[in-house]
Amino acid sequence: MHAVGKAAPAEARAADGVVLFEQGEHRWVWLGADEDEDEGVSANQFLVQHGGRGCLLDPGSVLDFARTVANLSRYAQPSELDYLFFSHQDPDVSSAIPMWAGITTARLVMPRVWTRFLPHFGEYDQKRMLEIPDAGGRFTLAGAPLEVVPAHFLHSTGNILLYDPTARFLFTGDIGASVMPHGKETLYVEDFERHRPYLEGFHRRYMASNVACRDFVRRVSRLSIDAIVPQHGAIFRGPQVGHFLSWLEGLRCGVDLLGEMYGA
Ligand code: FE
Repeated sequence: MHAVGKAAPAEARAADGVVLFEQGEHRWVWLGADEDEDEGVSANQFLVQHGGRGCLLDPGSVLDFARTVANLSRYAQPSELDYLFFSHQDPDVSSAIPMWAGITTARLVMPRVWTRFLPHFGEYDQKRMLEIPDAGGRFTLAGAPLEVVPAHFLHSTGNILLYDPTARFLFTGDIGASVMPHGKETLYVEDFERHRPYLEGFHRRYMASNVACRDFVRRVSRLSIDAIVPQHGAIFRGPQVGHFLSWLEGLRCGVDLLGEMYGA
């Protein structure tokens, strides 16, 4: 397995952030999640850093903004962010867009199909957009390559993931998202079979179809992945990556279950 520098202990889920990977000037930081949040869905935010510059992944909602800015400031200043990466358009990913756009000069990376809706946030500057076409793309963070992997319909119509070949981390947005019982949240998945119930309800209802799942697993199988990092819940690392992808490949979900949904 690829070395993961300064990996946090499995039980760690500190409120103020955890360094997940560090190698030279390259770093991944989990910026925490509000475990006591009574409103909305508890969401993870992640920071990728290279050469003193940063890319914030799924910056989050207005509910997350104050905590994320506070935790970010332990690792980077907002002025050091070159990119804000949005996997899709959901409010828990994107409702704080005007606030993040206001405190940074970062470019906004998002699927092209969603950019036409940006003016509805009340602010839109085409020069700051990095629109990702359906086929995906690449960009660099202070010279470090980052690959945008499309995963449309999982769950959003336009849905993108971020693969970092330096850390061998794949940020998957809602793919792999879990809802763990309050008080039992862990940073990493330790036992896939025990974790599976926390994935099942969300993936069966929100992911579009088994066709989309199988296509996704086939395309990411070419990547060397040490960790799958979702926007909600625990991170898959080491052997848990394969366990999760095998499960997803066989999952019946979305339109596969239309009959059951309507009781037919
Ligand atoms: Fe979503």
